[in-house]
Amino acid sequence: MKFSKLISKTSKTVPSDETAINAQLLIKAGYIHKEMAGVYAYLPLGLIVLEHIKQIVREEMNKVGGQELLMSTLQPKDIWLKTDRWDDKKVDNWFKTKLVNGTELGVGLTHEEPIVDALGDFIKSYKDLPVIVYQIQNKFRNELRAKSGLLRGREFLMKDMYSFASNQQEHQEIYNLILKGYYAVYERLGLGDNTYRTYADGGIFTDRFSDEFQTVSEIGEDVIYLDKVKKIAINQEIFKKENLQKLGLNSADLVKVKAVEVGNTFHLESKYTDALDVYYTNKDGQRQSIIMGCYGIGISRLLGVIAEHFSDEKGLNWPVEIAPYKVYLTFIKEEPKLVKIADKLYQDLTLLGIAVIYDDRNVRPADKFADADLLGIPFRVVVNDQTIKDQLYEFKLRSSPHLKYLSQTELIKMIQ
Ligand code: ATP
Ligand code: MG
Repeated sequence: MKFSKLISKTSKTVPSDETAINAQLLIKAGYIHKEMAGVYAYLPLGLIVLEHIKQIVREEMNKVGGQELLMSTLQPKDIWLKTDRWDDKKVDNWFKTKLVNGTELGVGLTHEEPIVDALGDFIKSYKDLPVIVYQIQNKFRNELRAKSGLLRGREFLMKDMYSFASNQQEHQEIYNLILKGYYAVYERLGLGDNTYRTYADGGIFTDRFSDEFQTVSEIGEDVIYLDKVKKIAINQEIFKKENLQKLGLNSADLVKVKAVEVGNTFHLESKYTDALDVYYTNKDGQRQSIIMGCYGIGISRLLGVIAEHFSDEKGLNWPVEIAPYKVYLTFIKEEPKLVKIADKLYQDLTLLGIAVIYDDRNVRPADKFADADLLGIPFRVVVNDQTIKDQLYEFKLRSSPHLKYLSQTELIKMIQ
């Protein structure tokens, strides 16, 4: 990509109503556009990062046996009546709409009901189980407060996964496997060191705890108590003596910290399957309840968390695996010799499959470097007089102040 062709421009200012650092950074760097409170558009740079996050999640969910599908956003009311979740008094953040003829519809805020209803057409016998399905889709929620940028959107991107098992043991095995998949996701996203499995309230229809994945951060809306040695936490909401005992946690070992919920996993027992009349028959031909689990990951929330977590006073600083481009390449001044070398290197790197943003603008080096830092591109390569003299390229990591001079071979090796 040539910098001059980017539709977004970097800017020093942000909308005056934008108070969240994550959104401020992403707006300044031209990754997102604010539509209104809690609603953001992803510009090309932001979309690439979002796709990288999605891809990591997708790969790990496939590894644990998930099959991807895509449900609709418009949802029929009747299935929600069956589970008693239609009424605004029961679920207070629904967006609802109507057909011309007056028929009420829900605008998807979650998908337990439609997933169970759809899979009910296919799950009939024990031979059809277990099943794990997931989707990555925009969710719509009329959140009361949407002041945290991408952390709390009214329209936001979520990965939601649902498992269907023929008995508790099978369910628990799937659940444990998915927990492992979650650890792998946060590890690959660069959040492994500060993201903790956190015990939380399981809801009214199970006596088990649910699990949240909480990234420790000052910007978090949640409060958790963390055991740093065991690498486990407990949500403040269920922090009491009997729960600590059940979980083998000792209050003296726990520190209270703020955190962002970046994912969660729930035991749903057979609440939704029973309510929607979806059962299976076992080997003896008897009708049995299906045990369900559901598993969320906040994809767009993660974009905000990662943006803010890996930032500094100069701007964004993406982990290599999710950066929109790995290399920022430019020439120090617009002289034909330098431009020619830079053009050639741009071609060479691109042919090797390395994602490069090539700053082909004729602007002051200081402005170029400020933009490279703001955009958070991991590797910076500059073609300057030394390149002409010694065929060496100036190389710098976004996260380090040190310059290195590398031959093209060394450079490619370093980047790869
Ligand atoms: P929260 O307590 O933060 O409102 P939730 O319990 O409503 O989250 P779920 O409905 O289970 O969360 O959603 C799964 C995941 O989606 C959450 O773990 C979170 O990472 C993300 N998420 C939930 N609500 C939002 C939102 N309004 N904006 C962005 N991400 C969200
Ligand atoms: Mg919520």
